[in-house]
Amino acid sequence: MGKPINGRTRLAGILGMPVDHSLSPVMHNAAYRELDFDWVYIPLGLNHEDDLARVLRAIRVLPFVGFNVTMPFKQEMLTHCDEVAMAARMAGAVNTVHCVDGHLVGYNTDGRGLVESLAEEARFTSAGENITIIGAGGAAGAAAVAFVLEKAGRVAIVNRTVERAEELVERLIPYARSTEIVPLHISEAEEQIRDSRLLVNATPMGMAQDDPSPVPVSWISRNQIVCDMVYNVRETAVLKAARDAGALAIGGLGMLVHQAALAIDIWSETAHHKAPRDLMRSAAQAAVSAARPGEVIE
Ligand code: NAP
Repeated sequence: MGKPINGRTRLAGILGMPVDHSLSPVMHNAAYRELDFDWVYIPLGLNHEDDLARVLRAIRVLPFVGFNVTMPFKQEMLTHCDEVAMAARMAGAVNTVHCVDGHLVGYNTDGRGLVESLAEEARFTSAGENITIIGAGGAAGAAAVAFVLEKAGRVAIVNRTVERAEELVERLIPYARSTEIVPLHISEAEEQIRDSRLLVNATPMGMAQDDPSPVPVSWISRNQIVCDMVYNVRETAVLKAARDAGALAIGGLGMLVHQAALAIDIWSETAHHKAPRDLMRSAAQAAVSAARPGEVIE
């Protein structure tokens, strides 16, 4: 199944620096084959940050359906888009761009991807719930936006640099009518974490095999859901601690799959072609399993 590349093939890709170990091409191309789309997904790795504007000028005139954006361009991409969807504006980051007649329309599917992954793997819905996010970077921001939009009861942003958590909270407060949203330093977060129904690790702690948990593991208990956005290792320290405590432990692969599937849903502009999430997950899982130990996959 799937069409061979031909003169009418449309392009999609992942723009970042580096993208060498990205799982996106594997997931996307598997989906396009299954959907019989005449699209191909390619790596768009830059060598210099200064090249971004020139590459975007080229993308505008080439037959792109859209592209994904990864580190270090997710924030900067906001300023290059002609239009930006509300969730991306709130998060301050764009990870998905839809190319429409040379116009670039920015979205953020990371937060929604997390919400869909939690619904699928934990039957979790955020409305009214107490949630702790560890980290205050781009991924934490996208998650916080999604939980606010889902009307979570309380969202705590816990970070080692509390000023960054405060900035994120300031940005989201105008939108958080049904959600209490608070910044905390990690040293003052024990009670918050113990009281949370959901704990999300949105720091890179866990990407290296021997990384410790980003929070003291004694704060985790059964009846909690612990989600680690890290997806390149079999089981991070915080997920092992969660499993040992009898909590539900969820890795970051589901979020990765759902954010990619949502991009395909946006680009294909039709409800008839919902991206095949199970197939994309199998493709991503196979690529993770085939990676060398310790190899970082973004
Ligand atoms: P980022 O913007 O660089 O933010 C990183 C955050 O982690 C910051 O709040 C930083 O704290 C904190 N942090 C970094 N190292 C730490 C350490 N040693 N101890 C405590 N806190 C630390 O990164 P990001 O883009 O948000 O990505 C965060 C993680 O999410 C990465 O592992 C990324 O791969 C993952 N992610 C996964 C998905 C998915 O689909 N599963 C999607 C996006 C991102 P400071 O503010 O104090 O520096």
